[in-house]
Amino acid sequence: MEAQREETVADFRTALLSRVKRTVIKVGSGVLTGPRGLNLSVIKHLASCINDIKQKGIEVVLVSSGAIASGFKKVALGRKPKTISEKQAVAAIGQPALIMAWEKAFERHGQKVAQILITRDDLTNRRRYLNARNTLRTLLSWDIIPIINENDTVVVEEIKLGDNDNLSAMVTNLVDAHLLVNLTDIDGLFDSDPRDNPDARLIPVVEKVDSKIKNFASTIPGFLGTGGMSSKIAAAQKVALAGIPGIIANGLRPGVLRDIFEGRAIGTFFLPRDASLCKRKHWIAFAKAPKGELVVDKGAEKAILFNGKSLLPSGIMEVRGKFGVGDSVVISNERGENIAVGLVNYQAVDLKRIKGIRTSKISSVLGFKHADEVIHRDNLVLTSETEEGVEECHFKS
Ligand code: GLU
Repeated sequence: MEAQREETVADFRTALLSRVKRTVIKVGSGVLTGPRGLNLSVIKHLASCINDIKQKGIEVVLVSSGAIASGFKKVALGRKPKTISEKQAVAAIGQPALIMAWEKAFERHGQKVAQILITRDDLTNRRRYLNARNTLRTLLSWDIIPIINENDTVVVEEIKLGDNDNLSAMVTNLVDAHLLVNLTDIDGLFDSDPRDNPDARLIPVVEKVDSKIKNFASTIPGFLGTGGMSSKIAAAQKVALAGIPGIIANGLRPGVLRDIFEGRAIGTFFLPRDASLCKRKHWIAFAKAPKGELVVDKGAEKAILFNGKSLLPSGIMEVRGKFGVGDSVVISNERGENIAVGLVNYQAVDLKRIKGIRTSKISSVLGFKHADEVIHRDNLVLTSETEEGVEECHFKS
């Protein structure tokens, strides 16, 4: 039974990989940098493997970390950069060296590259998001490999994507890639930390990112770049929810990319969810940073979770945070559990005045009415649905 199942999953993996025409490959700092700064031989090797993938007719978008690690070796600070401005300064020093190393490595194969530095703000603003998408598509149509990193120099905490795992998930969705490959310095997801436990078992396939999988990830902190294994799992979950498979594998293993694209079962493979969130809902759920929180009563919780309804003022018990019209907020229930994310039709100050009242009373309290709904269903994504993926979509992009 189990053997048959493994065979089915292996066939499915091969079938999914054979359909990949565009892939995002994320390479972490732990792969690209060593004790003396950038590891040029790894960069050379990966560039040559990526070139082979391109020869198969697959378009590649690269998300490369390593700016801070590379800059750090150059400034001889004697300690790790601590403050955000120190990290930004170090990233500014390291980024040109990083991109030059990639450019040189790809030049040997006659392959051109482009540098794209992006922040959460660029992805939160829908116009900039769509614009970035057009630029990336143009580069790909010109046969150029875009190399993306977070624009560390200008980000402040609120607009930081946080880690390149998250960035790579966003980019996978942005460019409509068919696969996200996350190369790190460990073989994949293990059921415990393989550095402490010799019996730790590699998980070859994840069908669904559930709490068990998240717990495995939380046992493997540190070393693995900014976000650790948890942020890699979160990234894999994000793309799986958009119907895209993901792989976490060891970027230091020679020939890793060739093996993946030849269908060898290495690393941890994340199966895509069948009913994926549409692009716009995915953007609401993941691109925008929530600016506040609405606590709702049991009636509203039920209406949202089980009856596919919008959020009305009558079900709102508490309004937290400062937000404006169109901002993203988290909806939580009376037990403090997050149940959904959505874009609000009213700013926080106005919502505080209309919470708990009937829709028909909005105008008399505020003197105006933007809409009956505080969050329209089209602008709402259930957080539990991000595990179930059943939301209907009315938008194409
Ligand atoms: N943007 C950071 C850098 O290039 C890396 C962030 C990460 O690895 O998640 O150093």
